[in-house]
This record gives sequence, structure tokens and C-alpha cells, in this order.
Amino acid sequence: MEAKRSDGHEKPSSSTEEAPLVEPKKAAEPGRRGYGGGRWCYVILATFLLSLTLLYLLSRSGWASSQAWIQGDGVVVDKDNKGNEDASSPSIDARKHKLLGGLLSPDFDEQSCVSRYKSALYRKASPLLPSSYLSARLRKYEALHKKCGPNTTLYKKSVEQLKSNHSVENLECNYMVWTPYNGLGNRMLTIASAFLYALLTNRVLLIQVTDESHDLFCEPFPGTSWVLPSDFPIKDMSSNHRNSPVTYGNMIKNKVINLSANSSVESVPPYVYIYLVDDYKHFDGLFFCEEEQLFLNKVNWIVLQSDIYLVPSFFLWTQYKDELQQLFPAKDTVFHHLGRYLFHPTNSVWALITRYYESYLAQAEERIGLQIRTFNWPRISFEEFYKQVISCSLREKLLPNITDDEQSYLSRSSNTGKPKAVLVVSLYGRYYEQIKSMYYDHPTTTGEIISVFQPTHAEQQHTEKRDHNQKALAEIYLLSLVDVLVTSSFSTFGYVGQSLGGLRPWVLLWPQNEKAPDPPCGRALSMEPCFLNPFYFDCKSKKEIDPGSLVRYIRHCEDRVSGVKLVD
Ligand code: GDP
Repeated sequence: MEAKRSDGHEKPSSSTEEAPLVEPKKAAEPGRRGYGGGRWCYVILATFLLSLTLLYLLSRSGWASSQAWIQGDGVVVDKDNKGNEDASSPSIDARKHKLLGGLLSPDFDEQSCVSRYKSALYRKASPLLPSSYLSARLRKYEALHKKCGPNTTLYKKSVEQLKSNHSVENLECNYMVWTPYNGLGNRMLTIASAFLYALLTNRVLLIQVTDESHDLFCEPFPGTSWVLPSDFPIKDMSSNHRNSPVTYGNMIKNKVINLSANSSVESVPPYVYIYLVDDYKHFDGLFFCEEEQLFLNKVNWIVLQSDIYLVPSFFLWTQYKDELQQLFPAKDTVFHHLGRYLFHPTNSVWALITRYYESYLAQAEERIGLQIRTFNWPRISFEEFYKQVISCSLREKLLPNITDDEQSYLSRSSNTGKPKAVLVVSLYGRYYEQIKSMYYDHPTTTGEIISVFQPTHAEQQHTEKRDHNQKALAEIYLLSLVDVLVTSSFSTFGYVGQSLGGLRPWVLLWPQNEKAPDPPCGRALSMEPCFLNPFYFDCKSKKEIDPGSLVRYIRHCEDRVSGVKLVD
């Protein structure tokens, strides 16, 4: 596939320019041996030059896939081009692009996780570069993780501490343990939240990898692992902890812990659960109070059970304000950068992604993603939601309208350009079938050719199955590779796709009285995910407060008014 595309974009002149190298006449030129005087020399020289020419042409054509980098626009560029490079040459851009502008460490074996360094080849170069401060902090974090990761002496020492009944001061390695909860989109949002929290509080992030989430993501930190060892002493982490006595909220409620900031560390438990699933209660929400953070900083092990994107709330903590400003000068890029840093699909998922992309999307002039997700509530019929998707796409001119004028279609010139590809991502097949039929049964008013594709339609959610989750990840990732995106309200699956892709999608707004609303969709304020359940409480005044009204860069979400998101 790479070779084919390379051919299509190669300058036709390059091969003919090289041909004279083996012209016999050249042998008689001054400085070379005469034709008759050294026939064998000529044959050797000609063979050598021919081999050189062939090698050059093969590498240009992308035959050796390791030599070829595909840019986001589908152009293959020569990775090892040693020729006349200038700053604007695509190969230099591609090289800079490989480490995502300093986001990624260069210290990995490329083949163990092909997506890590090759993902950049499938995306347009992002104008959203990470700050140099973020890159430096990530390298520093990687060093800490290597020092404290599983199986190190310091890890073992911290695990020993868990067996006592209190935390200790000055323990070299403190941890944030992430546990899985809900669907893949939820999980990716909470892993990113847990990682940023770990970065801010100098903790090491370890994730619990269960059977169904095995073989989804590569290790993100070089020379170590983020997987929580199976002999970790805290058991039963996956069951719902709403009523568990070891959650921070319940410990406060039951007055088991002393909240005073200057309480002695002997009264601080060795670990606490932070329960922030979407039904969290007032006492659980005290986690968002800055004062509580002073206490939590003393706890050696924090275990997070959550399904929501917590990041916007971190931006309300004054103690981390400067740090966050340096990490993310553009505040609406947090998940974009952290997601691209943390989530590298494993080779098996990457194979799904690239096979699909190259089969159906690479050749298109433009890729339009439609993420169609429905929930039990609010209710909307298939017909109404389909109508909403189409009216949004037509109204915002993302897709062309159709006409019955077959005559003008038939009399058009045959060269209509490349098709536009529509990627439908949904649990259900009906939306795809109907959109495909729309463009099969009718020509478009613009004469454009619209191709419609859907990778899978499982019809049911099976978060407990690994192959289902691998396909879900492939689809989230494919969504991030489109040029234009429509997402469904309230869907973390869509949030991850949009943020990874650096896309500000059109969001299908909530139905009203089971009908499509008018307008059917609105442009997202930013690419950031929505924090769907923020804490409406001011810890100082102990009064209700609207978290969407406190600072300029935290606003209410377009798809959920009570939610908040980062904007720049
Ligand atoms: P959310 O429920 O939309 O917030 O997204 P989640 O990813 O957290 O959970 C939904 C789960 O349902 C996903 O993880 C998938 O397992 C499945 N799912 C939902 N929509 C799709 C889809 O369009 N394609 C695939 N393959 N799976 C989906």
C-alpha cells in the first residue's frame, strides 16, 4: 500500500533523469576508460551504477517500508533522504514529527510497539506542539517511574509500607494506582487524569490491567512498566467502592481520619481509595478541595476508582496553577498531549487501524467521521437520530446534499476527483446502511463522490471482551485520523477521538422531547473532553458554587450544561 501511494506521488522526472547513468556513450568521456580498451571494467562499472540506480529508485518508491513515512495527507516521504533538504522539506518535518515535537522519548525499541513512532505518519502535522517544559517534565517523570517502577527495591519498600497501618513521611516513592471502571473511553479519560495528578503530586502511576484490557496499549514509559504487579497486596480493587469503608469520602464521613493539615503522619492511612464514579457523593467530592489535597499529599498510596475526566478541576487548585500554566500554555490541549503521550495501540490493534485506514480512508480527498452513539436516556428513535445526523452534516456543509437529477450526473466529465470518505463509527449498522444508501441511490448536488464505511457494528456493548475492546480502540483511533468530525453528546468514546485528533467537532445536541433539536448540532468550544460531573461546592465558604463561572478557561460543556471543560 505504501509503495503504491508512493508511486502515485513520485515526480515522474526522477526516474528518467537517472537513466543516462548507464548510457554506453558516457564510458568514452574523458577520464574514463575507453570502450574497447577495458570492456570488463565497463561492464563492472555499468553493473555498479545500475545497482545504485535501482537501489535509489526502490527506496524512493517506498519498497522498503521502513524507509517510507506516510504523512497525514497520504504522501509517502523518504525518511533517510540525505539529499538537498531545506527546512520546509517533508522529510525533515516528518522526522521532527516522529517524536511529536518532543512529547515522546526516543528510548524505545520501535518494533515492539510500531504505533509509537509511526502514528505521526498517519496524521497531519499538529500545530499544537507540547511546551518544552512539558517535554522536560515527562522525561523527569520517566526517570522517577524507572526508579520506583514494579520490581525495584523502592517499589518493594513502598509495598511493605502498605502493610503497616499508616503512611510515612519522606518515602521516596509514592503511588497513584488506577483501576478500570466502565467503557474504554471512560478508562482513557481517567488514566490521563490519574497521570496528570501523578505528575503534579510527584507520584508514580500504576494501572491495573485486567484480562479484557490486556493487549490494548503499549508501555508508555521507557525501561520500566506501568502495569501494577499481580501480587499487589490490595485485593478486590475492581468492585464498586461507593460504600467501602476505605474510600476517602467514607473515611471523612465516618470520622476515621483527621483532616487537619498538620495532623501527624501516623494518623494518615497507608492508602485511600478515591471514589469518583459519576454517582460520587458530597464527601467523595471533597477530593476537589485544595485543603484536602494537603492531607492527601501525605498518603503514600492513592487508589483511584473513577469514570470521569477530572482534569479541569486540577486547574482550580492555586498550588498547581503556575505548574499547569507551564505544562499547558494552551489549556485546551491537555488530553491532546497526554493522550498522544500515553496511549500507543499495541501491534495487534495498530494492524487493525492501519489496515482499515489504508484500505478505505487513505485515498480520500477528505475524511469525515460520524460518531453515532445512543444511550438509554434521553430517548430518541433511530429515525429521529438519523435525521439529526444528516441535518447537522448538511447544514454545516460537512457533506453534500443529494439530488434526483441523474441526467446531469450521467453527463458529467468522468474526472470527478477523489471521493470523500465518510467513516461511520457506531455500535449499530443501521445508520451506516442508511447513509450509504443515500449516496448510492442519488447523485450529489456538487458532483462529489461520497464513499461510506463502517469498520464494525457489534450491536451490543461488550466491555468485558478483549477483542471487542481492541476494535473499540481501533475505531476511537480511526476517528482521530479524520479531517472533520461529528460526535454524539455525552460520549467519552467521542471525546477521546476528538482530543487525540486535535479536532473541535460538531456535537449532536441532546434531543428535546425525544425529537432532534434545532439546531441539530453545535461546534465544540474546544477539543478537550467534558468533565461531566464537576463538584458544585466551594470548600472555603462551604456553599454551592458553579465551577463553570470561576475562571475564564473553564466553561460549561456544549453537550452537558452542568459539565465543564477547558477552553483556551
Ligand atoms: P461512552 O459510553 O460513549 O462514554 O464510551 P465508552 O468507550 O466509555 O463506553 C462504550 C463502550 O461501548 C466502548 O468502550 C465500546 O466497548 C462500545 N462502543 C460504543 N460505541 C462503539 C462504537 O462505535 N464502536 C465500537 N467498536 N464499540 C463501541
